[in-house]
Amino acid sequence: MKFDINAITRKNVRELKPYNTARDDFKGVATVYLDANENPYPTEFNRYPDPKQNALKSEISKLKQLDPLQIILGNGSDEIIDLLIRAFCEPGIDNVIIPQPTYGMYSVCAAINNVETKLPELSIDFDLDIQNINAYLNDKSKIIFLCSPNNPSGNLLEQDKIKSLLQSFSGIVVLDEAYIDFADSDGWITSLIDYPNLFLLQTFSKAWGLAGLRLGVGYGSKEIIQILNKIKPPYNINSITQNIALTEVKKDNPITEWVDTLKNERRILEVLLNQFSFVEKVYPSQTNFLLVKMINAKACYQHLLTKGIIVRDRSSVIHCDNCLRITVGTPNENKELINTLYDFQNINL
Ligand SMILES: *Cc1c(COP(=O)(O)O)cnc(C)c1O
Repeated sequence: MKFDINAITRKNVRELKPYNTARDDFKGVATVYLDANENPYPTEFNRYPDPKQNALKSEISKLKQLDPLQIILGNGSDEIIDLLIRAFCEPGIDNVIIPQPTYGMYSVCAAINNVETKLPELSIDFDLDIQNINAYLNDKSKIIFLCSPNNPSGNLLEQDKIKSLLQSFSGIVVLDEAYIDFADSDGWITSLIDYPNLFLLQTFSKAWGLAGLRLGVGYGSKEIIQILNKIKPPYNINSITQNIALTEVKKDNPITEWVDTLKNERRILEVLLNQFSFVEKVYPSQTNFLLVKMINAKACYQHLLTKGIIVRDRSSVIHCDNCLRITVGTPNENKELINTLYDFQNINL
């Protein structure tokens, strides 16, 4: 199906004249800046940050082999999810498709913006069920939110199924790759050239170890990025975040060692968890967490809690009956987890 950016962009956004910052009007280098009503006395932060984040985007573009004009940065991926919904979904009219179970923010952002959510189920092995998704689609469907590897299940979605949605859907397919650095796959970034309606989300919050910095990244066609740039708050990435991320991105192999360690720990945890009598299933994971089905998830959760170990109880989530989601920690933290689970097993013998 032909993708037409104008056809899916909200009229008010199409016609919007974006806010012009002082730094948009003057792009050169000057010796005296009297254009932005800043305080002239240096506090390290007296100047506004670069609204276009050019230095950081230029480094990210080298890392990902993409044009900087195909990159948008957000105050966390969460801001970019919100921008996507606000750019393309008319409140009270349009809808978004969010196969379940998955990351909760897509639904929350849609609800905040009064955009209807359609929630087809993933199959029981957490893969796409194309027929089911198609049954929910109508001519007001603007975005399909997919997450691969998926949270909370940990699996990659099947490539051919994603392809078929990209080919048949006239709206935008958002593919959240927050965990792609932990996967045995390079993800979809090299496919952006083939699919004008593909939009990728990545983040500095997981493998990069910078959740507190709040930095999410979106990759898409220049046309989609241009629309999102029109509606983003001008100074959405503060100077501390831009500077620290720039330093991290410039390092040689900044995350390789962490990722290798965490993937190895994930393998160890998977084996050990499977040996407990109260564990029914450890779902295969391409992420830094494991979804674990138990005989008695709530009791296990409570036991861990009393020992000061917090995991995520996902047992009320569809297809996740009696499941806890456990993040992979340091080798010592994982040992403590396993020892505490041995106690739990002994109590319940
Ligand atoms: C953790 C997570 C994110 C990260 O969101 P940020 O706002 O960038 O911290 C995004 N998507 C999914 C699926 C996640 O699990």
